[in-house]
Amino acid sequence: MAIDFGRIEAAVAEILAAIGEDTARPGLATTPQRVAKAYGEFFSGVDVDPLDHLADTVEFHAGADELSELVLLRDIDFRSMCEHHLLPFRGVAHIAYVPGRRIVGLGKLPRVVETLASRPQLQERLTEEIADALTAGLTPQGVVVVLDAVHDCVSARGVRQARSSTVTMATRGTLSNPVVRAEIMALIGAGHD
Ligand code: ZN
Repeated sequence: MAIDFGRIEAAVAEILAAIGEDTARPGLATTPQRVAKAYGEFFSGVDVDPLDHLADTVEFHAGADELSELVLLRDIDFRSMCEHHLLPFRGVAHIAYVPGRRIVGLGKLPRVVETLASRPQLQERLTEEIADALTAGLTPQGVVVVLDAVHDCVSARGVRQARSSTVTMATRGTLSNPVVRAEIMALIGAGHD
């Protein structure tokens, strides 16, 4: 289903009225349209299949050493929307995988993250869904997905922890091994403060 911008606009006008605002004042005149447009972006992944980004793979010839075949993409910027508060959370994703017989262009991995993040989400589920999409799309030997994000619902309301970030991890296949996992976490951390 395509996003119904008119319905979002009506709902936003209703929220503004409900908090006691004068919806007719000039500053708010185009707010419902602006919010509808922003939501169109935030939720553009709702009906999109992330596997579409992984359709275009090329054959990969494996070497001998497992970790030398590791593909690691660090610091993929993402933003998503917490489904409990409809407030943004944003941060970075790190993706590592050991290819099976197919690899994909590195530019496709951020597209998978972007599509799955552009839905009402929970960080834990987003992490698992990225790992599942890579597993289904690439049939790799192993996958690690790490997300490190700051949630507006934590930083801007309630306990107001402005700098507190949440780290989640999902692993699949050979990279679920705790020793290998620790090595990858060290690789992800290398070069960072
Ligand atoms: Zn929240």
